[in-house]
Amino acid sequence: MILVLVGPPGSGKGTQAALLAARCGMIHLSTGELLREARLRGTPVGREAAAYLDEGRLVPDDTVAALVAQRLRPGPATYLLDGFPRNVEQAAHLERMAAETRHAIEAVVLLDVPEAELVRRLTGRARADDDPAIIQKRLAVYVRETAPLIDHYDAKGLLRRIHGRGAVKTVHGRILRALGLGRA
Ligand code: ADP
Repeated sequence: MILVLVGPPGSGKGTQAALLAARCGMIHLSTGELLREARLRGTPVGREAAAYLDEGRLVPDDTVAALVAQRLRPGPATYLLDGFPRNVEQAAHLERMAAETRHAIEAVVLLDVPEAELVRRLTGRARADDDPAIIQKRLAVYVRETAPLIDHYDAKGLLRRIHGRGAVKTVHGRILRALGLGRA
């Protein structure tokens, strides 16, 4: 089974994905983390991704899809995808991979946070791409590329919209309830 977590930069996607995966024994795949790791290790993918990461642009779809495909295996595990897919083309990649590995895309959780709050949160972080100009770029990329994905999954009846403001535990509880997994 596959669950997808979507949200703008600063929405707390990575934090919530890690919590949910640990609590429910899911395999957490964060494309942002995989790309940053590849970069640190200096692999070909990491070297290709570096400029995109620095500029807040999306790494090419085929590259990111391949990172996910290498890790997605048939079987009973639940995969929690964090940061993938990020546009409609990547969603098509995912649908193909899911069919090949016989996984159902069970739900897509959207972490909804107002833009003013996102900017406030991101400016307080220390990641290299959390520079003000790059933050604006990543938010713009989200609106242009990722927002259409939300309509795509809504039309399929898979979208679960979560209010992303509040304490980490509160948001975690909302996600569990939206997925029918009980409360923290
Ligand atoms: P955030 O959502 O806060 O921007 P992520 O760790 O999810 O943080 O992503 C950081 C960067 O990694 C993005 O700005 C982008 O360059 C790259 N990235 C992550 N996931 C993808 C993806 N699915 N497709 C293309 N690029 C990606």
